Amino acid sequence: VHYARIAQKDGEINSYLSLAKDRALAQAAKIDALAKAGDPLPPLAGVPLGIKDVLTMVGSPATAGSKILEGYHPPYDCTAVAKLEAAGAVLLGKLNCDEFAMGSSNENSAYGPVHNPRALDRVPGGSSGGSAAAVAAGFCVASLGTDTGGSIRQPAAFCGVTGLLPTWGRVSRFGLIAFASSLDRIGPFTRNVKDAATLLGVMAGSDIMDATASHTPVNDYVAESQKPVAGLKIGVPEEYFGEGLDLEIRAAVEKSIADLKAAGCEIKKISLPHTRYAIPTYYVIATAEASSNLSRFDGVRFGLRDKSASTLTGMYRQTRDAGFGAEVKRRILLGTYALSAGYYDAYYKKAQQVRTLLTRDFLSAFADVDAIVTPMTPTPAFKLGEKTDDPVAMYLADVYTVAASLAGICGVSVPCGNTKEGLPIGVQILGRHFDEGMALRVAQAVE
Ligand code: GLN
Repeated sequence: VHYARIAQKDGEINSYLSLAKDRALAQAAKIDALAKAGDPLPPLAGVPLGIKDVLTMVGSPATAGSKILEGYHPPYDCTAVAKLEAAGAVLLGKLNCDEFAMGSSNENSAYGPVHNPRALDRVPGGSSGGSAAAVAAGFCVASLGTDTGGSIRQPAAFCGVTGLLPTWGRVSRFGLIAFASSLDRIGPFTRNVKDAATLLGVMAGSDIMDATASHTPVNDYVAESQKPVAGLKIGVPEEYFGEGLDLEIRAAVEKSIADLKAAGCEIKKISLPHTRYAIPTYYVIATAEASSNLSRFDGVRFGLRDKSASTLTGMYRQTRDAGFGAEVKRRILLGTYALSAGYYDAYYKKAQQVRTLLTRDFLSAFADVDAIVTPMTPTPAFKLGEKTDDPVAMYLADVYTVAASLAGICGVSVPCGNTKEGLPIGVQILGRHFDEGMALRVAQAVE
């Protein structure tokens, strides 16, 4: 059913980069055999999933939306993907995204932009635009994306689906093609909060292949997400309701807050005073780490190689020149600059100090409240091409996402209405480190 729908309709959306039919059909046959034999079925038996193309899957290419990885077939499975398959999920294929997950609109993919299924002339958000669009279009029941500075939560809001950002370290990143390692996280896109809780429960946990995957015990997220919310304290940060917030979005988010109050929550005004420094801080740290992570793409080990050069350094240079897109090059330059001798203290070190202040803002807020509610995006999905000439305008689309990324806390993006034009609106629920159950519980109440 899903492959038929993809064949029929993905031409205009462009969400899948490759299909994993052999692997999917083999898995489906296995589940079928279990069912016929009357054996107990695993928790995700037969659930069709799509996987963002920055995650590795044996038998499928992994391009990360880049030409430089053209022809690269990873020899191992991403842990999160393998865990989902072991739980019975059927992996349909790989989903389009911004090149190396850099972007907010999916217009930086070397394989063409993704169109928002809710309005084809609009962006789906980014960088996990294909993952959000595929769930919204019914091309899979759920998908995996990654979020470094908003790339699960913002596209979920733009496409009208649920997106979960687990705490940094909650889900193993083994098999994730790294962008900014101190920020990168893997998480699900789903049609509802309960499905997000289910997928997190399967993926979460430590991993011998990833030293940054935490040993913190994995909770029963489904049970936690279904608990009543009466008596919970909800923080509403004034800094997230200022200038630039679309009026219809503000009204929809305020309605969600009123619903929580009606459900018995105590609503508290809070302040996260360093919020306005989040975007510059994020773009220094993310680009610095990207410039280091992306040095491995040199034409020797992975994918593309320009064979016309006569020297080794010439080969590196020409391969990287031909393989990387404009935004990736911009970030490598920015990051290399921020890390260079003489500038390191002024930019990178300063950004790390501000990161600590941003994290403390959240920690002191969470001493008083159980969850924080904010708008997910300042505007609804914008038109394709609208911001492509202005990288700074594009970066500003991340105003409500990057602070939580820098702080490492968890969050959920849930649909909370539509604009008059019919574009989806999302609300963000943030939770303490490793308190996904609480964020999901509040999200469930506003769903
Ligand atoms: N839009 C942000 C960026 O371009 C976030 C991307 C992400 O989370 N992968 O860096």
